[in-house]
This record gives sequence, structure tokens and C-alpha cells, in this order.
Amino acid sequence: MSQPTALSPATEAGSWDPARHSGAPLLVIGAGPKAIALAVKSSVLRAAGFDVPEVVAVERDCTAANWREGRGWTNGRQLLGTLPEKDLGFPYDCATWGDSQDPVTGEIARRMAGFSWAGHLLARGVYARWIDRGRPQPSHREWADYLEWAATRANLRSVTGEVRRAELADGGWKLTVVDGTARTAVHGCGLLVSGPGPSAGTVPADGTRVLDTAGFWKLAVEGLPDWAQTVVVIGAGETAGTIVRELAIGMDREVTVVAPRATLYSRGESPFENRYYSDPTGWTRLSEADRQEFIRRTDRAVFSQQVQSDLALTTKVSWEPGRVVGTRRADNDIAVEIAYGGQQRIRHADLVIDATGGDPLWFTRVLGPRAEAALRAGLGGSVTRERLERAIGTSLAVTGLPAPLHLPNLAALAQGPGFPNLSSLGLLSDRVLAAYVPHIRPEAGTADEARTGADLPDHTAVPAVNQGAAHR
Ligand SMILES: Cc1cc2nc3c(=O)[nH]c(=O)nc-3n(C[C@H](O)[C@H](O)[C@H](O)COP(=O)(O)OP(=O)(O)OC[C@H]3O[C@@H](n4cnc5c(N)ncnc54)[C@H](O)[C@@H]3O)c2cc1C
Repeated sequence: MSQPTALSPATEAGSWDPARHSGAPLLVIGAGPKAIALAVKSSVLRAAGFDVPEVVAVERDCTAANWREGRGWTNGRQLLGTLPEKDLGFPYDCATWGDSQDPVTGEIARRMAGFSWAGHLLARGVYARWIDRGRPQPSHREWADYLEWAATRANLRSVTGEVRRAELADGGWKLTVVDGTARTAVHGCGLLVSGPGPSAGTVPADGTRVLDTAGFWKLAVEGLPDWAQTVVVIGAGETAGTIVRELAIGMDREVTVVAPRATLYSRGESPFENRYYSDPTGWTRLSEADRQEFIRRTDRAVFSQQVQSDLALTTKVSWEPGRVVGTRRADNDIAVEIAYGGQQRIRHADLVIDATGGDPLWFTRVLGPRAEAALRAGLGGSVTRERLERAIGTSLAVTGLPAPLHLPNLAALAQGPGFPNLSSLGLLSDRVLAAYVPHIRPEAGTADEARTGADLPDHTAVPAVNQGAAHR
């Protein structure tokens, strides 16, 4: 593997040498859908003769942990929001790897279909019954079973333990992984950070009367105590929406949602809006203001239409505009301090749940000094969400680092709204893995360039039959 030469800014194209992953794996923090989609695509591509890195996931819990009861942000019975056909290979477009007429491309498509949601149901002998039942949405638990099945079939290599340090070393990344008292070093040519991150923490959780999202779902699985009749939920995104639904409909509690806007908005889910999630063609040609507005209307701080229609069945939910600025113990309950329009007011509740979502910058707290310095140099200043979101290149990695750091969870603004979630895991895998294949790698171009090829300058990768064949 090549030595890091400098920690100074560089372009995505010029910052690492894809020809020299030299058998070193691509490391993924977390064995969730992104790691599994990458492992599946990597195994399929290697079987088809492409020299892409193997995937190694470092997981502190179990495969697909965040989709199982008592572990992540679910009780396992919640239904998957996206269609299950938006599975590990979706949208099944192999254009990155060759012409559609190329038999190798056909082989990739065929092998990928074997890892689909339908493939999973077929393997279990329940496909026809699923169709006859009207293709119901799977629960998170069923989705986790699918993910685990695919991870096993793709031979996903996992290292058990928590990543405590991520440092640039020997031209790639070195992770320090702690499992109980054991400490292991894991090396790779690139690093991808998955998962929503831990709760951002608007108010400090105390584990009894003030809970974060994971704390709520843990308690929900154990059984919410009877004393918790009135609940304040902070946040207006899908994380909050599923909690509100569980409290009001599943548990019959009175819920007040506190969110900074006039009301609880629903998500735009028309075919026109959904298209950008599956296929970001045209995304980078939109103005930044339009992209921000699209994300706000369709993803951030909005409830899905399914949650909205479920909540229409109950009178147990109300809302208050404002920001929660603090909580304190009152005589028998919790006093919640809410600020809005320059005024402050108090609302009392038995239980408060901070459902404001994850902190996507959590990984910066485990970066070693070299990695942190390289990131600051690459961003041209301190590490902020705004700078990171603007610095994500075609391969979903931060431009200007000496080894790839892929951050799909922060890629929505620069590359397309589907990359942080489950909307286009197949395209995500193509973008990431192509970065390690010379002549295939989409250079520091745009989402549109990567999809259409037609707009690409000559030196940029256009997938073609013999280019692919040359590097198998
Ligand atoms: C409950 C829930 C439902 C969602 N439903 C949908 C949906 O229907 N459709 C959609 O498009 N999006 C959905 N999302 C949003 C998004 O797609 C998910 O967050 C999705 O899980 C992302 O997949 P992932 O592979 O990035 O991470 P995850 O599945 O979240 O996996 C991350 C893994 O990382 C592990 N981990 C975290 N930190 C460390 C560490 N330091 N060391 C080692 N391991 C670590 C965790 O244990 C976890 O297993 C949902 C999110 C949640 C939380």
C-alpha cells in the first residue's frame, strides 16, 4: 500500500491511488444495510472478475443490530418505511461496470438478483405467500433477517467490537477496536462510516424520566410504566414520528410533540420526489437552495405519510411549536422549558423523550490526530457539518484526504438524497467500490456525470466493455 505523502488538500481524483488497494479491505463501521450492500456488491464483482476490495465490517453488537428489538431504535415490530424492493441491490443498474450488452454486466445483474428481497423470500419458500398477502411491508425484524441472510451468503467478514479510534496509517486507515478487554487493530484501504450516530442530545437523558431514542425503545420493549401517561416527544422527523405512533396508538398515552415549526409536516412522497432518491440524475444541476428545500420537504423534520395517516386515527396527539431548552424535575413530574417567539413557557409531563435524531458527526470524536488534521486541511477549516456536506465527492468520500473516508450519511446535499438511507443501496455500493478500480472510478465529477457518462470529459471514467474486462 502506498505511503501517505501529504495531508494537504487535494482533489478526490488525486488523493489516493486506487490501483494500490493491494488486497487491503474496505472497512465499514457498523454491520448494517450499507456494509451488507457493499459486501454483496464486492463479492458479486469479484466473482465477475473485478479487482475491488473485500469488505470488513466492524460491529460492536450483531449484524443488523439497529433493526432488532431492544438494540436499536425500534421494537422490531415497526414496519419498514421504504418498499422492501428497495433492497440491497436497488436500483440494479450495472452501468458503472460495463455496457448493458456485455455478458459480464448481465452476470453481475443475475448474481445481484440472488441477493434481492424476492430472492430471500424465494430461499425461504414464502415468496408466493407474500405476493398473495398483498406484498405487505416487512417489520424491522423481518428486514433484519433478510440483511443477516444476505450478509451470510456474501460471506461478510466482521470484526466484533467498538471502534474507539480511526487513524490514517500506511496510506489507508487503521481502526482500534475494543471488545471487552481485548483491543485489536484493523487495517484497510478505505473507511466508510454507517449508521445514524447516537442521539444528538437536545436535553440530557437521565434514563428514567428523560430518555433518548434508544432509551425509549428499550423501555418500550420491557414495558412502559403506567405512571408515564403524559409524554412530551421532542422532534418532528421520522424517528420522532414512529415513537409518537407507538405511544399514542400502541400504548394509548397522551403525547405532545414539540417541534420548531408551525405544525407537524408530512413528507413529500410523490413519484417526482421519490425519483431523486432512487436516481440522483440532475441533482447536482439544482441550485443548493433547491436541494436544501427538497431535503427539508421530503426527509428532514417531516413525518412519513404512513405515520401521518396512522396518527389521524387518534385524538391522543397534539403539538406545540418551539424548542425545548431544558428540563427539570418538578414535584411529581418533569417541567419542560419551551422557547418560542422570544418567550419561554413550561409544560409538565410524566416522561420526556428526546427524538431529535442521530449525530452524523459522531465519528469525528474517534479520529486520530493525523486523520483530524487531514480532514481540517481537506475542508479548509474546522470540521463542521456544513463543510463536510459540501465536500463529499462522487464516491461519497470527503475530497482531499490521502485515503478515502466515505460518509454516505452526509452525502445528500452534494450527491443525492438517497445515499444516507435505504433508497439506493446498489448505487451507493457502485459509487464507493468504483473508487478503487482504475479507469472505472468516477473521478471528482458530479452525480449526473457518474450516471450518464455522456457529460464526462475524456479523462474521466466511462464504464465500457473492454475497460471493465481489462481490470477483471
Ligand atoms: C428505526 C429506523 C428505521 C428506519 N427506517 C428506514 C426506512 O424504512 N427507509 C429508509 O430509507 N431509511 C430508514 N432509516 C434511516 C436509515 O436508512 C437507517 O439509519 C439505516 O440503518 C442506515 O443503514 P446503515 O447501514 O447506515 O446503519 P445501521 O443499520 O444503523 O447500522 C449501524 C451499525 O453500526 C454499529 N455501530 C455504531 N457505532 C459503532 C462503533 N463505534 N463501533 C462499532 N460498531 C458501531 C451499530 O451497532 C449498528 O449495527 C431508518 C432508521 C432507523 C433508526
